[in-house]
Amino acid sequence: MNNFFSVKLSSNKSKARLGEITSDHGVVKTPAFISAATKGTIKTLTSSQVKEIGIQGACVNTYHLVTHPGADIIEKAGGIQKYSGLNIFTMSDSGGFQVFSLASPKWQFVTKAGLARTINKDSGLQFLSQNQQKRKNFSPSSLDQTKKTSARDEEDPFIVKISDDGVKFRSTFDGKLIEFTPEKSMEFQRQIGADINMAFDECTYYPATHEYAEKAMRRTHKWLLRCIKYKDSAKLIFQKTNKTEKLAFASSLPSNQVTHNQFLYGVIQGGAFEDLRKKSAEFVLTQDTPGVAIGGVSVGESKEEMREQVKLVSDYLPKDRPVHLLGVGQIDDIIDLVKYGVDTFDCVEPTRLARMGEIYKARRPKFFDGKPQTLPAGRQAQENLSSSLFKNIDITKSIYKYNLEKVDADCECYVCQNFTKSYLHHLFKQREILGYTLATYHNLWVMEKLFEKIREMISDNLI
Ligand SMILES: [Zn+2]
Repeated sequence: MNNFFSVKLSSNKSKARLGEITSDHGVVKTPAFISAATKGTIKTLTSSQVKEIGIQGACVNTYHLVTHPGADIIEKAGGIQKYSGLNIFTMSDSGGFQVFSLASPKWQFVTKAGLARTINKDSGLQFLSQNQQKRKNFSPSSLDQTKKTSARDEEDPFIVKISDDGVKFRSTFDGKLIEFTPEKSMEFQRQIGADINMAFDECTYYPATHEYAEKAMRRTHKWLLRCIKYKDSAKLIFQKTNKTEKLAFASSLPSNQVTHNQFLYGVIQGGAFEDLRKKSAEFVLTQDTPGVAIGGVSVGESKEEMREQVKLVSDYLPKDRPVHLLGVGQIDDIIDLVKYGVDTFDCVEPTRLARMGEIYKARRPKFFDGKPQTLPAGRQAQENLSSSLFKNIDITKSIYKYNLEKVDADCECYVCQNFTKSYLHHLFKQREILGYTLATYHNLWVMEKLFEKIREMISDNLI
């Protein structure tokens, strides 16, 4: 079952490991960063730029692709890899995150008619008073928090109903009523055709009560069983189609149907509670899914709490299956999370920050070229390693107007070899589209180099 994942080397200093995920769209060397491609595009980049940077994988969003252009169209095109021209290893999320993140009382949003809404924990919609709107929607701190901690996406749907069966919501694109059940999520994902599919889960908001987190966890477990059942039955139908009932199905199947392998990951939930995280990890691991994901982290909690939640489940993570961390990939967290046993990460941060003019900068000039022994020694130094390695520079600041130095003299990417800080600053101030492309290119390059370095450090038994 798990020919698609192999562990090449396990560290004896931590749970870090070198591995390979083999898909019909290429081999991914892990630990790996999976770039956000929410709507079927790594924003601002062409597929040849994606290849040049060396990005190994992309993560698409089922909710957005169902909303537009529709999963059926992507299926007819032969899957998202062909449809987008990316032709690389791809994951799809279940659609659950967009839906459930809004169950948090902290989340409010404004409709086109100007009405602010919030959703209570039992999923009923509430309208806020005008004063509440002003206070909750327009305070700089809440805007900032949304920008910084909403690690998954920027456009979210209006929920109509959450039940044990699934979720109904209105599309933000055309207002159409869409229903996600475990079965529908699996079918949408089958049509989209990503190499990895996520089981439909309830992403618990933060902070949630123990009672609510437990309810959401139990629902997630029930839904995982339904996802597995659906995937198994879909496989049986497909096999049958090729044999005795071929004609019966032939007319309904599009000519370029998705035929490559798609692997299911179960998702561990449980909120910020140790007992629930352990229960959920144990349950999900008893199911024989080819991979496992950790969900419900980076939803508003502090970094320390986020790391603690991953650490809590790290003792339960499978040795023979890949582990994905959903929606986390802030650059200063990654090395620690690799040490807890995470193999792959997806996060919008490098690309989103790039479009805001935030450029990653390695603090140690020789980090990418230096020998591993130049890294700080000692346990505490190792703990602080990742946070000391990078800072962001805000290229939109006026000081860069006069700076004719390369964007980052220590970076070997196309952008840093060819353009100055002043030019990039100019592009951003003039809102020239090339600016977003160049910043995205550089940030993803830095991310790829970081992961290359991490793999090298595991290989050298340094972490
Ligand atoms: Zn660069």
